[in-house]
Amino acid sequence: MTKFSEQFSRRKFIVTAGASAVSTILLKGCLGNPPEPGATAGAGGSTNAGSGTVPAATSAVAVANEKRVEGIETTKVILGYIPIVEAAALIIAKEKGFFAKYGMTEVEVAKQANWGSARDNLEIGSAGGGIDGGQWQMPMPYQISEGLITKGSVKIPMYVLAQLNTQGNGIAIAGKHKGKGIGLKLDQAAQDYMKGLKKAGTPFKAAYTFPKANQDFWIRYWLAANGIDPDTEAELLTVPSAQTVANMKTGSMDGFSTGDPWPLRIVQEDIGFMSALTAQIWKDHPEEYLAMRSDWVDKHPKASEAMLAGLIEAQQWCDKPENRPELVAITSGRNYFDVPPAVLTPPYQGKYMMGDGQPEIDDFKMSPLYWKDDLGNVSYPYKSHDLWFLTESVRWGFLPTNTLVDSKTIIGKVNREDLWKAAAKLAGVTDADIPKSTSRGIEKFFDGKEFNPEKPEDYLKSLTFKKV
Ligand code: CA
Repeated sequence: MTKFSEQFSRRKFIVTAGASAVSTILLKGCLGNPPEPGATAGAGGSTNAGSGTVPAATSAVAVANEKRVEGIETTKVILGYIPIVEAAALIIAKEKGFFAKYGMTEVEVAKQANWGSARDNLEIGSAGGGIDGGQWQMPMPYQISEGLITKGSVKIPMYVLAQLNTQGNGIAIAGKHKGKGIGLKLDQAAQDYMKGLKKAGTPFKAAYTFPKANQDFWIRYWLAANGIDPDTEAELLTVPSAQTVANMKTGSMDGFSTGDPWPLRIVQEDIGFMSALTAQIWKDHPEEYLAMRSDWVDKHPKASEAMLAGLIEAQQWCDKPENRPELVAITSGRNYFDVPPAVLTPPYQGKYMMGDGQPEIDDFKMSPLYWKDDLGNVSYPYKSHDLWFLTESVRWGFLPTNTLVDSKTIIGKVNREDLWKAAAKLAGVTDADIPKSTSRGIEKFFDGKEFNPEKPEDYLKSLTFKKV
């Protein structure tokens, strides 16, 4: 989405797509029918050079406008996504017609080159050829709202509207460290080995694709819980995922905080092994979110509700085990993740090869989940989870300590769980499935630590490594 010519061709497509939106959606539902070129482009791939056909859907799509929201301000919105499993529900909402069912017949899901590009495109906004919102790691919507990661520190207020998924991430370790006992928990010998790397002048070097957000937090949490100070006894840095994998092959990178389908590829291609899945570090943890420019939501409240209702239905669809083969077929397509379906199938069944002699995992509840997990609702954006991301930001010195004093105000401005609840009602979610509290309560981690959202300071006090 960075080249003007690509933006132009995409804008042009939107104009032509309006008239045929319904037929496009129906066409995609036909078994074995490759979508027409125009439909392919609209399905998120217009910026993806050499886009091919999306694998055929195997069952019917929702009926466009069946539950069209009355007085909807627009039928269009452009949502950015990164081609990893976190984006699946956005893609399914588009492909299976759930957005269109509520009247959002011209939603575009636009592949972003990386998190930095997504941020840049949000700054531009759809009017300038960018995006209105989409998929984010936390606390990016907060960082953008506060102007902490934008050009010229411009504040671009954003709203967090839903959580997209839980789990589906992990920590990969380069093959050269096999046989050292580097798993979820490190014994003394393994800790000494890791610390010894630093003493030898070759510190454990680990990558994430964007700093001060989920991937950075997961690897920091895992290292610190295992007695290794991520700031002084390891080296963490931002590297594009493809480059990280290449560097892990050559041995110049030691670790990689990453999401499905990379973990399977790393083990299968013998680049390395998995030390931990995030589902092991913090079962049912918050992962990525749908967040929008608040000016877009404020201008289009009904369209926002319609879009959210479509997303909620898509998330419900994604969590039915019987739909996962079709989920794989759609998302693996060249327009979307562009990976062989075989690398997506095992994680979507909850099957993980960990490598390095560790037992394999085979549990659907360890897979990426989109609607429900053992602790409650996945889609609902708990304020207590936003608070954990802000607290962890304070822990590592990414945000000032007084963030916690002002946290209620800060979160109140960005987290719009009220909009989620309205959309859930529209989507027919029963009262029993709508959380009663904005807090999920006390959160538990693999090392025995607890985060009580009522007392974030106690959590910080309980931790050995921190910068506060
Ligand atoms: Ca992630």
